[in-house]
Amino acid sequence: MSKVEFNKETGPREVFCGLTSIVWLHRRMPDAFFLVVGSRTCAHLIQSAAGVMIFAEPRFGTAILEEKDLAGLADAHEELDRVVNDLITRRPEIKTLFLVGSCPSEVIKLDLATVAEKLNKRFSGQVRFVNYSGSGIETTFTQGEDGALKSLVPLMETTDEKKLLLVGTLANNVEDRFKKIFKNIGISNVESFPPRQSTELPKIGKNTKVLLTQPYLSDTVRDLKHRGCEIIYAPFPLGVDGSTKWILAAADAFKIQELKVHEVIAPLANRARQALEKHTEILKGKKLFLLPESQLEISLARFLHNECGMELIEVGTPYLNKDLMEEELNLLPDDTKIVEGQHVEKQLDRVRASNPDLVVCGMGLANPLEAEGISTKWSIEMVFSPIHGIDQAADLAELFSRPLKRNQILTSKTLATY
Ligand code: SF4
Repeated sequence: MSKVEFNKETGPREVFCGLTSIVWLHRRMPDAFFLVVGSRTCAHLIQSAAGVMIFAEPRFGTAILEEKDLAGLADAHEELDRVVNDLITRRPEIKTLFLVGSCPSEVIKLDLATVAEKLNKRFSGQVRFVNYSGSGIETTFTQGEDGALKSLVPLMETTDEKKLLLVGTLANNVEDRFKKIFKNIGISNVESFPPRQSTELPKIGKNTKVLLTQPYLSDTVRDLKHRGCEIIYAPFPLGVDGSTKWILAAADAFKIQELKVHEVIAPLANRARQALEKHTEILKGKKLFLLPESQLEISLARFLHNECGMELIEVGTPYLNKDLMEEELNLLPDDTKIVEGQHVEKQLDRVRASNPDLVVCGMGLANPLEAEGISTKWSIEMVFSPIHGIDQAADLAELFSRPLKRNQILTSKTLATY
């Protein structure tokens, strides 16, 4: 392992909560509905994150806990029952209903697991109910996906069939491209979790080899291992090198020759490296500070340093699973400073003191930093954009080169005004 420097930090945090993940999960599984059991704040968050759909019937909603529920003066279970009944009657197309816990539902200790169990009995054969927490008390926004996927694992049937299972939400077109590459190198039984329909959950078992597409799925991985799946440890498929190593790791698990992989991906990799060049020109030598929010920070730092030439000042991550991240950590330059956790004020002091060219951070921190003249990139954009795979490397780099370019243009215009 490269000699990276590990530090831990605790204190005030400024991150999105797990409810945010509903935005990409409900797009991935159009037959599912996400019912947040929370407050008006939760409803506002999810509506503004997903955009308020006025004409379409949304596939997420909030069962609002009123003050009397929070004060224990009303039976929140009865109210929740009523909301679910209305919803199922009005929306017969819903096949899976996720009951999503929030800070308020956790504070009043609403037992959503028992609620889901009762509803499963009542609506048996019609709708499946699962529950998970999207609360922001202890978790960050990508862990919402981890909770949602973990809640589905017990519903996955068992098989001994040999297969490759890609775990973590991918854009559909990216998933198709990966499947094509795997087919061309000789792995044709490839499935994805989450699937495109919530009712089409892949079967799993001792001959299932799991290849993660996202680094923030620790709880899901643990449960898949308990079901006998084998985890393929690899860097994550960001950038040309990361994606190549990710594909090679899968090939190795299926005993496919490395040469075969290179034959298939060489044209893609050459094209992608050429497309990267114009972004590398902008990014090379620029100083990067990553604040913790998405758990993608370590993979992004590896890509932006190794393939785009950026200098890493500090790489923050909300949570570090050293087993899942070992292959990534090995690829980082020696002395990279990794900080797990957050004390937002101390981190902002370090940002200001180090004078970075670009800061990757949450939306709440971006505006104040921009006002101080520091270019930023929202970490949440990484989960809304199709950034995985060899052929997406230039698009990924562009997410970081664009704010620097914009800043250059603005600075030159300001100078011209004077
Ligand atoms: S779950 Fe918690 S952090 Fe998220 S919107 Fe609701 S109250 Fe806020």
